[in-house]
Amino acid sequence: MNILISACLLGVKCRYDGKGKTYDVLSALPESIRLIPVCPEQLGGLSTPRPKAEIKNGRVINIEGTDVTDAFKRGAEEVLRLAEIFGCKYAILKENSPSCGKGQVYNGDFSGVLIDGDGICAKLLSQKGIKVFGESQIDKLLEETRNE
Ligand code: SF4
Repeated sequence: MNILISACLLGVKCRYDGKGKTYDVLSALPESIRLIPVCPEQLGGLSTPRPKAEIKNGRVINIEGTDVTDAFKRGAEEVLRLAEIFGCKYAILKENSPSCGKGQVYNGDFSGVLIDGDGICAKLLSQKGIKVFGESQIDKLLEETRNE
C-alpha cells in the first residue's frame, strides 16, 4: 500500500528554515507500506529556505507580508496528482503546518498560537477523499489500514 508522507518527517531538509526533522515514523510502519514523500511548498515552486508563512483569513501570508497562496495551492494540486498516480488513499502529514497541518494550524499572527483549521494541502487531499493523519496519529492510521 502506498501512503503519502510529508518529506520533512523523514528528515528531508525541505522545511522553511532549511531543516528536516527526524521522527521515528518509519519504524512504526509495517514493510507492506511504501511511503511516497512529498513537500507541497517545494512542489508549488517555493525556495528552501523560505520565509515562514501562516494562514490568515483564508490566504497564506509569509512573515514578510507577501501573499503566497497561489504557490501553496499549486503545490497542493501537485501532491494530489502524485496521490492519484500512486493510488494513495492515506497520508501522514506534518501537524500544524500551513500546507500539511490537519485539524490545527497557526493563527496567522506568527505568535505561536494554534487554532482549528487545515493546511492548504491537507484540506485539498481531505476534500478528495484521502484520509490525512498527523505524525502523532500513526497508531490510528495502522488501526484503519489493518484490514486493507
Ligand atoms: Fe514539511 Fe509539508 Fe512544510 Fe514541506 S510543506 S516542509 S512537507 S510540513
